[in-house]
Amino acid sequence: KKITIAIDGYSSTGKSTVAKQLADYLGYIYVDSGAMYRAVTLFAMQNGIISKENFDFEKLKKLLPSIQLEFKKKPDWSKAHIFLNGKDVENDIRNLEVSEFVSPIATIPEVRTKLVAQQQEMGLLKGVVMDGRDIGTVVFPNAELKIFMNASAEKRAERRYKELTDRGDSVKFKDVLRNIEERDNIDTTRKDSPLKKASDAIEIDNSDINIEDQFHTVLQLAKD
Ligand code: C5P
Repeated sequence: KKITIAIDGYSSTGKSTVAKQLADYLGYIYVDSGAMYRAVTLFAMQNGIISKENFDFEKLKKLLPSIQLEFKKKPDWSKAHIFLNGKDVENDIRNLEVSEFVSPIATIPEVRTKLVAQQQEMGLLKGVVMDGRDIGTVVFPNAELKIFMNASAEKRAERRYKELTDRGDSVKFKDVLRNIEERDNIDTTRKDSPLKKASDAIEIDNSDINIEDQFHTVLQLAKD
């Protein structure tokens, strides 16, 4: 029987790594909900809605209906790309600039309402692995399996730094670490923060476990 798997947790805890492994192994659909918030952020940057000087919430709210998001697998879910209004933006949404603006954008209720609705629609297809912050609590409160991932900020910054430098971005480790700490702060301190551990989620701290072991642990849970 195909189930719904919700994987939540702090940024750069390797949620997407394990989610993609599960989706490809189980033949499920993978949805990267963070990519959707990032794509809306990129749209805002491209349309003069957000920059270091300016933040035009009203304009974004007005333009929300014109934002269309879609995932395409190529060919596996581990290599899925997100499309913003028909354009592949998978690469553009991963840079540090988008990361700097995404958490404030994700605090806008109208943005969350739109994206949660689309996520729930994608969940109607059985056999979905979705990762994010509020998947087990808001998007799929009835998910059969909920995982909540955590790791130390240092470990997470190391992983994100490696990811960014591997793709050729010139970034400083201290900026990556600062961004992770700032996003944790925004994601957790708001009273309606998206990042909450569902009471029935299984917590995994992967500061010191490798990707293989983690995959087998989670796969076992999915099979139980
Ligand atoms: O998962 P990722 O780090 O790419 O997510 C980027 C940002 O999007 C997070 O820092 C968070 O602010 C926001 N987000 C969210 N709810 C989700 C997924 C992501 O608010 N379900």
